[in-house]
Amino acid sequence: MAYDPNNIFARILRGEIPNKTVLDTTFTLAFHDIEPQAPVHVLVIPKGPYVTYDQFLTEASAEEQLDFFAAIASVIRDTGVAETGYRLITNNLPAGGQEVPHLHVHVVGGKTLGPMLPRG
Ligand code: AMP
Repeated sequence: MAYDPNNIFARILRGEIPNKTVLDTTFTLAFHDIEPQAPVHVLVIPKGPYVTYDQFLTEASAEEQLDFFAAIASVIRDTGVAETGYRLITNNLPAGGQEVPHLHVHVVGGKTLGPMLPRG
């Protein structure tokens, strides 16, 4: 899927739209979701133009990947959900529920979470 440089997370990365930053590293930005679905709901995004998880795993450099996964670990620890429990969610492409076409991992926790997927 071609990267759309006008997607909302690209605009956040360019500083065109404000965000509530949790962590800002060389290759990664983490910020609070604007419509949190749990007490902790942080989005972790690579700064590079990747749409999906598989694209990131195959095309991003080792440095970008290490930085991204270390940032996710920091967010998990720093928000306290490492102790209380959490879920990582990545929706990929429209059929996978992806609304913003820039790779992001949702770090969700701070309450008892429901079933992984709706049943039926
Ligand atoms: P997804 O459906 O996995 O693509 O998730 C997109 C997420 O981005 C949703 O949880 C939205 O609430 C969130 N979101 C959309 N716009 C913003 C924004 N400007 N700042 C923070 N989060 C946003």
